[in-house]
Amino acid sequence: MLNVPPQAFPAPGSQQRVSAGGRAKVPLKPGRSLMDWIRLTKSGKDLTGLKGRLIEVTEDELAKHNKKEDCWICIRGFVYNVTPYMEYHPGGEDELMKAAGTDGTDLFDQVHRWVNYESMLKECLVGRMAVKPIAAPKGMVPEKKGLGASVKDLTPSYDWFQTENSITVVIYTKQKDMNAELVIVDCQDKRLRGEIIVGDHSYLVEVDLDHAVQEDVAVNIAEKVGKVEIILKKKDNVHWKMLGQPLESHNTFIKRTDRGLFYRKCKLVSKTEVTHDTKLFRLMLPKSTHLHVPTGQHVYLKKNIAGTEVVKPYTPVLPFLPLDFKEPFSHDGAHIYLMIKIYSCGLFTQALDHLQIGDYISVSNPEGNFKKSQVQTLEDLFLLAAGTGFTPMVKLLNFALTEVSCLRTVKLIFFNKTEDDILWRNQLEQLALKDERFEVQFILSQPTKDWVGKQGKISSSLLSEFVKISRKDSKVLICICGPTPFTEQGVQYLKDLGYSQEEIHAFTA
Ligand code: FAD
Ligand code: NAP
Repeated sequence: MLNVPPQAFPAPGSQQRVSAGGRAKVPLKPGRSLMDWIRLTKSGKDLTGLKGRLIEVTEDELAKHNKKEDCWICIRGFVYNVTPYMEYHPGGEDELMKAAGTDGTDLFDQVHRWVNYESMLKECLVGRMAVKPIAAPKGMVPEKKGLGASVKDLTPSYDWFQTENSITVVIYTKQKDMNAELVIVDCQDKRLRGEIIVGDHSYLVEVDLDHAVQEDVAVNIAEKVGKVEIILKKKDNVHWKMLGQPLESHNTFIKRTDRGLFYRKCKLVSKTEVTHDTKLFRLMLPKSTHLHVPTGQHVYLKKNIAGTEVVKPYTPVLPFLPLDFKEPFSHDGAHIYLMIKIYSCGLFTQALDHLQIGDYISVSNPEGNFKKSQVQTLEDLFLLAAGTGFTPMVKLLNFALTEVSCLRTVKLIFFNKTEDDILWRNQLEQLALKDERFEVQFILSQPTKDWVGKQGKISSSLLSEFVKISRKDSKVLICICGPTPFTEQGVQYLKDLGYSQEEIHAFTA
């Protein structure tokens, strides 16, 4: 909601500004980019109209500020005067006005809870709600509060034990198919954080450890019984009287979407060219982090730009497209690979491009609503990608060709402007030669006259030509990712062609 692209993008009148439905970005006036907003917040101008005072706001008072020229919104118990921000909001003034004079927490969370509004709106802070916050702050939800009986039964529990030189925290998840992607562990400066994903819930062990531990942390998962062990090495061989002091969200089991995003600093270890404007960034996770980003999910990168924390999502890929699908690609678990297009006017990607090898950047826990189970019993898989919308397709392609035994065909239909923009073209062509189940079709919207391949943009006729199931009654999934209008139009065309909601997956934030 609060991340504003510079007014140069998308160009006024471009299709990217006009989407078929959902959250459209709207044209912003010149001088209303995110950078312009950051500049305004640093100008020393009184943006709240309260001359730096913070006040307690009653519900009645909040409700009075419900007009465009006087608009207050409450997010997680804090009230912001968003009047000066109106013209900078990428979703447009009307979207922001939906929460005018009210608690906008739920609306904000629905749209993009990952945006760092605290940093972005800090100069607009009016004060706290005088009464108790309408929505509890993230991570503060009391243990098991509001969970139905069935969820309560699923609540994990933990225990710990020690040997002379180690501490083991054991988490009993009561989940049979526990795996490495569902366990996220970080241990920094004596602070241990172990998050376990159980369905759409998250269980957290979060303690300030009694004593210091060494950097490397081991995680053992007994998949069948759902037991997770986090093994820490003591720095000093002393007897611990307790595991440590529980932190505020310790031992809570809440909806995943109610858990705040957690970031750790990762080191940039290499940056290699993929095309003229796209690079592969290899980030190294801290030794004390256990994190595997599931297929189809993205992470958020966070960076301080001109004093404001800016957050953007990116979808991890593999270091290359594996050509041998006999065995699943074994990921070392220590690195995250991101394929990122650097835009000449892009606020975040320009900052990323300026990172030097050895620099650090904050990387969040994974998010996303794609489930591998959507692919497990498939016969035909179609991947419709535009530009960097290719990124979620990489792991998906690898997973499908490696682990889906009933799969007959995988077809990637890859939309780009020019030949030079095609990501991993060579690797894709090699894969198509090597694996007869895989086929790739490149479609260019702005080709040179030498291009002999297909030309055009996503359309109903193009889709009916290329998306064809291999047999009648084949189990099919069509995944689509690219600029929002591309994705929205694609979904609509597919529905018009008779594909059901369950047969389509659109990757979005
Ligand atoms: P902004 O400052 O927001 O954009 C402004 C400038 O960038 C414009 O002037 C324009 O020149 C350019 N620009 C930005 N977007 C476009 C566009 N679509 N078409 C043309 N010009 C554009 N990006 C990746 O590169 N790799 C990924 O793996 C990836 N994963 C994503 C996953 C999700 C779930 C989502 C929602 C987005 C993902 N993105 C990915 C896009 C990414 O989050 C940023 O939006 C992108 O990097 C641009 O950020 P920016 O701040 O540099 O650009
Ligand atoms: P791009 O190079 O600008 O465009 C790639 C192709 O898509 C081009 O052929 C382009 O045609 C076409 N296209 C662009 N906008 C269109 C529209 N409105 N309708 C129909 N076709 C359109 O793409 P990019 O710069 O790489 O951008 C990739 C996008 O994917 C970004 O918006 C990014 O946020 C998104 N993305 C999302 C996820 C996710 O949600 N999980 C992951 C990765 C990337 P033209 O010649 O007409 O422009």
